[in-house]
Amino acid sequence: MTVQKERFALPLWFVRGLRRGVVTTRYPARPDPSARALPTPPVFRPHALTRDIANSLVVICPSRALARDGDTLVFDVGACTGCGRCTQHAPDAARSSGVFELAATTRTALVKRIPLAGEVSR
Ligand code: SF4
Repeated sequence: MTVQKERFALPLWFVRGLRRGVVTTRYPARPDPSARALPTPPVFRPHALTRDIANSLVVICPSRALARDGDTLVFDVGACTGCGRCTQHAPDAARSSGVFELAATTRTALVKRIPLAGEVSR
């Protein structure tokens, strides 16, 4: 694209955006209402997590975000796609968090260790 064409292209995109009703939001200064429709990673209820349930969640998770380590369920939030299989499979033990702001400064901060019901994490 030549410099001359670029001068006209930007105003045309702007006009096209106005016609189509394209808008921006004030996020993060204000909550974005469309965020409610986003898939979000689960949160787990340790009191409802038995070994059998934890094992079945590990098996059904398609992105390998879940793993067992002794008496804990290891949840890698960074690998979770928010598919919702775990919340559908065990609604008493897992529910959608509704949280999508997951930035962290270290990779390990995204890995959660959840003790299984009545069992202490080591
Ligand atoms: S939402 Fe999907 S990807 Fe995330 S932990 Fe559950 S089953 Fe795995």
